[in-house]
Amino acid sequence: MNNLLSHKQIAAALDHADPLKHFRSRFFNTSDVIYLDGNSLGLLPLATSARLRQVVEYQWGNRLIRAWNEHWLQTPKRIAEKIARLIGAQADEVFVGDSTSINLFKIAYGVLKLQEGRTVILSDDLNFPSDFYVLQGLINSYFHHHDLKILASQDGVNAPEEEMLQAIDGTTALVCLSHVAFKSAYMYDMANINAKARSAGAKVIWDLSHAVGSVPLTLNDWGAEFAVGCTYKYLNGGPGAPAFLYVRKDLQSQIESAIWAWFGHASPFSFEQQYRPRKDIWKFSAGTPPVLSMAAIEPGLDLLLEAGLDSLRKKSLSLTTLFRQAFAEQLKPLGFEWASPTAENQRGSHVSIRHPEGYRICKAMISPENDALPIIPDFRSPDIIRLGFAPLFNKHCEVIEASERIAQIVESETYLRFDATLDAVT
Ligand SMILES: *Cc1c(COP(=O)(O)O)cnc(C)c1O
Repeated sequence: MNNLLSHKQIAAALDHADPLKHFRSRFFNTSDVIYLDGNSLGLLPLATSARLRQVVEYQWGNRLIRAWNEHWLQTPKRIAEKIARLIGAQADEVFVGDSTSINLFKIAYGVLKLQEGRTVILSDDLNFPSDFYVLQGLINSYFHHHDLKILASQDGVNAPEEEMLQAIDGTTALVCLSHVAFKSAYMYDMANINAKARSAGAKVIWDLSHAVGSVPLTLNDWGAEFAVGCTYKYLNGGPGAPAFLYVRKDLQSQIESAIWAWFGHASPFSFEQQYRPRKDIWKFSAGTPPVLSMAAIEPGLDLLLEAGLDSLRKKSLSLTTLFRQAFAEQLKPLGFEWASPTAENQRGSHVSIRHPEGYRICKAMISPENDALPIIPDFRSPDIIRLGFAPLFNKHCEVIEASERIAQIVESETYLRFDATLDAVT
């Protein structure tokens, strides 16, 4: 404990001075819960409710099919332009639609075809398993002689960045990595990996799902060629919101999508029998865009753009660093292990801690005994409690509350009230 000020007092002062504090009131009221899962499903922006009501009742209910020309055909492009600003790309380098997994499938196929003659695909074991499945599926269906090599992290926290740099060579077709790892929040030096890949003739696809909206991204400046990412985490786009993909302008004509379908056709409403792809980023479209869930993304993007990524990053580091201090004093002595990078420049906006009773501790946080507020983290097997500190709406006092509550749950052994059977979604 700081000699002069308690953690609570420090948190209160930081919250008072927080230039982003007014953003909290722009979200649906969640004062009955301490929500530390904005990196799995972001909060509902108030403007999103209003937007959806308008899209459903006016555009769909009243305008019906006319709304395609009046509104819906333009929506994806407008949203893609806003995502482009968040990732440091040009407006015509981002497609929005489908899921992250499907987008990875579409461009990984194109890249592997482009890279004919090279048969090694590299990733690391901090990457999101769905990315492995997509790559394994591509090998199974099309690229039978390719090899997916998953380099191992030494400690499950830090990526094998040096080994990755060494492994990228003239045999490497594709490197597929999460920029920020979903469990530990390890953040790669993207420019460094891109530079090595470029010199070896390898291509890199970055998965930005845990990075976008929480850390400043400058894909063009970092020499990024391909990326995919998700919009329902820090972008607050809503459950199952459409994902995005990025292909640098000069590469768009060089790779083809794995899925040929009418919305990627140069002239979909000519109903030609022969496929002719569009030439721009929208060649990666497949079927009809999901208008309702697409519309739900935009107000969240507007909030992030209004706040600014540099301010968000500053606050995010302030939140995670405060938690690290509280952790050292309150949780480490109780047997918890820090499972995220210690260096700020290698850390995203969530933090993982480990405890053998992690799952039951999570359950005790979510269902407190007395009238304390539920705290919602998520659990990642086998023993990780993951706390997402979304800088747009989380407060420093919530960080301290979480640390104190976790300590109290372990000290009082209240987690013993819960059984250790895993729920379907953790
Ligand atoms: C959340 C997440 C995804 C999500 O994939 P979907 O196919 O959109 O469900 C993909 N990759 C990473 C790294 C993620 O964190």
